[in-house]
Amino acid sequence: MVGNLTSQLNQRLSPELQRLLRIAGEIALEQGQGLYLVGGAVRDLLLGRANLDLDLVVERDAPRLASLLADRIGGKVVTHHRFGTAKLRHQNMTIDLATARAETYSRHGALPTVHPGSIADDLARRDFTINAMAIYLDPDNFGQLVDPFQGEKDLGHKFIRVLHQRSFVDDATRMLRAVRYEQRFDFQLEETTESLLRRDLSMIHTISGDRIRHELELIFKEALPEKPLRRAAELYLLQEIHAALKGNGWIAKTFEQARSTANPPSPGLYLSLAVHHFSQGEGEEFITSLNISKATARVIRDTLSLRENLASLEAPQLSLSAIHHLLRGYSPTSILVWAIASESPLIQQRLHLYLDRLRYVKSSLNGKDLQDMGLPPGPQIGEILEALHEARLDQRVKTRAEEVDLVRRWLSQEG
Ligand code: ATP
Ligand code: MG
Repeated sequence: MVGNLTSQLNQRLSPELQRLLRIAGEIALEQGQGLYLVGGAVRDLLLGRANLDLDLVVERDAPRLASLLADRIGGKVVTHHRFGTAKLRHQNMTIDLATARAETYSRHGALPTVHPGSIADDLARRDFTINAMAIYLDPDNFGQLVDPFQGEKDLGHKFIRVLHQRSFVDDATRMLRAVRYEQRFDFQLEETTESLLRRDLSMIHTISGDRIRHELELIFKEALPEKPLRRAAELYLLQEIHAALKGNGWIAKTFEQARSTANPPSPGLYLSLAVHHFSQGEGEEFITSLNISKATARVIRDTLSLRENLASLEAPQLSLSAIHHLLRGYSPTSILVWAIASESPLIQQRLHLYLDRLRYVKSSLNGKDLQDMGLPPGPQIGEILEALHEARLDQRVKTRAEEVDLVRRWLSQEG
């Protein structure tokens, strides 16, 4: 047990951040309020992992402390009085300050009602013991660990443990958070926590699509999202979100490929790989139930509809302009999905060709150039531009001069 984490704070945080925390502690003491570093930063300090996301909890008035702190050291404060929170930006540092809160849950899945509370209340509303620790920042107790739920012991045993039996009922997003932390740190769900999770699986339906989607997005931001997905599938949690979702070896293989192509892959790429096998109907269901953004929904729809047209890309003789024509309506991410997911080397190669080269090919001449060459405004201009683009794609012309020549030849043939 460490008891005091001053040396870890000194080691891990920049001198500027240390100074900021000490001054914040002094101001809090002058005001007679408690001030603490909480959550992920404390956990990661004990694990010896880097974490620059500093969350502070103040026992009475975070916005007030933030503005006094900014007066003293400089920086900009944005406050949300309604939530009792403030964000302080100073040089390249960002610190979140929140007023300590206690919570009550009115019904499953709803966001809780919150009211002012002590640091003990604030830690008691958290998800897991390893995230429910705090460090005193006031000068008299600076660096001392506050650990009411034995989070430090669970870190040592590598356990993800909820604080009480109703935790997943109160907030089912914690089930996804549990597998995310378990897999990130190579920990294990503590036995009772795992049986509570299995018992409460159906509680996932009590939370909004937005909140589920947000947790999935956090999973996709992990270094290896396939690990929490596989674990969530093993626990039947993933299937509870959508019956057709999988967390198998195929996902692991394609996610790894996605990382070697785009680093880091966009959440839309991971998500589309994860649903590439859905029927269009399942895709629509998924988009609606998770309230997926327009842009990401388009990538998913393109992914599913491109699947139906991939076979045309296997024709033995296919000009470059024909490949372009087959693919130009699809979003690049959906094309990348199939460049990764397709089993056919020829299809893969043609998809990559489109992504790396063909989609950037443009003709040099534009409508105005054609008019300057004497063409009357009208639909013919569009047709010629289209034909020029095709000639460029098929490398029948390579320069502006060759384009001009080609247009002249077309016009003289016509005349
Ligand atoms: P990460 O490294 O993933 O950012 P973190 O611990 O900083 O981990 P955040 O999502 O930033 O996680 O949340 C900050 C803290 O808020 C957590 O440490 C946890 O104590 C608490 N928290 C977040 N979400 C929940 C939740 N759904 N239920 C209870 N407590 C939560
Ligand atoms: Mg965080």
